[in-house]
Amino acid sequence: MVRINCKCVFGVKGCLHCSGRGYVDVSVEEFITADKFRQYEEVRESGATNMFDGIMVCELSDNLTRVDVTAIRTHYDKLAELYMTKEK
Ligand SMILES: [Zn+2]
Repeated sequence: MVRINCKCVFGVKGCLHCSGRGYVDVSVEEFITADKFRQYEEVRESGATNMFDGIMVCELSDNLTRVDVTAIRTHYDKLAELYMTKEK
């Protein structure tokens, strides 16, 4: 699961998404689409930056956010299994 801040930011009471908690938990495969994972892989394969440099990874990718990068790094094994072609 990935914990993301709700769009209401501070946990608006009665928010439909977070019920006022200010965050929502989504499954990692729901949060990180195949396209996001592909972007991450492109940056990684380019070798242009250390993948632990989240800010650089964001800048080099098309539209990954810091939260995306952290989530992919944390759940990399699961995502790789899910999205990478088997013959690779
Ligand atoms: Zn909310």
